[in-house]
Amino acid sequence: MPVSECIFCRIVAGTAACQEIYRDEATLAFMDINPANDGHCLVIPKEHFENVFDMRPSDFGAVASTAAKVARAVNEVLRPGGINLTQANGEAAGQSVPHVHVHVLPRRAGDDLLLNWDRNRNSHQRFDRGRIAEIAERLRSRLNT
Ligand code: AMP
Ligand code: ZN
Repeated sequence: MPVSECIFCRIVAGTAACQEIYRDEATLAFMDINPANDGHCLVIPKEHFENVFDMRPSDFGAVASTAAKVARAVNEVLRPGGINLTQANGEAAGQSVPHVHVHVLPRRAGDDLLLNWDRNRNSHQRFDRGRIAEIAERLRSRLNT
């Protein structure tokens, strides 16, 4: 797939919309469009790498560092019961977007969420865009002060 067709590269380039919450030189964080839980967001390298095997470990280190920062903000702002940081490499691992990303996934006791949740579930049954935007604004405030 050409990089120009990668949805996350398009988000980095500003040609696709997202609810951005944080960016630095090497990474970008934004709300997941189809959240598995309230506050679910993603951290990506700005550069296109399909999976962790294509990156220098230090490039993944920058993503991990931002994921830790974002997870802390999500934890402080939303106070979930816990947070999973997950990252899939390859379809067999559940990767559906071929641009490295770490899921920052708030958890609540008894939410019964499987880590291979259905990526195609229609989120609007449970989560609306207004709620995603509102949470994004709270996280932006926390991350950019
Ligand atoms: P994975 O299945 O681990 O590759 O995760 C891909 C994630 O990207 C899923 O949780 C999708 O909901 C999310 N996603 C796909 N397209 C977009 C988009 N345009 N903006 C935000 N999140 C997206
Ligand atoms: Zn990409």
